[in-house]
Amino acid sequence: MAESASDALTPAQLVQHALTARQRAYAPYSHYLVGAAVLAADGTVILGCNVENASYPATICAERVALTAAIAQGKRNLRAIAVATRDGGTPCGICRQVMAELGPEMKVYISDEQGDFRVTSVRELLPDSFSRSSLLT
Ligand SMILES: [Zn+2]
Repeated sequence: MAESASDALTPAQLVQHALTARQRAYAPYSHYLVGAAVLAADGTVILGCNVENASYPATICAERVALTAAIAQGKRNLRAIAVATRDGGTPCGICRQVMAELGPEMKVYISDEQGDFRVTSVRELLPDSFSRSSLLT
């Protein structure tokens, strides 16, 4: 899903989008609700939430829902991602790898359910990552 946003979207506003997405999470097993909001360079905000499955490995994280939806919407220049959880939990390793692939320059806002957030980056979350440069040499 996409929602229009102005170019002046603040980090706090992006976090609010992630909190909205979090309310849509499908997490009947873990009850750990996660929301994500990706900000594209054109101001578009793309939401994602975790979607669990009775076949546990079929579960997909909120971050990857939002990032892959951004690609499907033709958004390749991604500026930031906000992630909202109950306790300010950070993205899992698989999501960090996908973030490094699709938005290596992104700012990352990690929020708790109150909207209190801290700022980090993909490079801080996954330093020295495996990347396309390893495959193209
Ligand atoms: Zn993940």
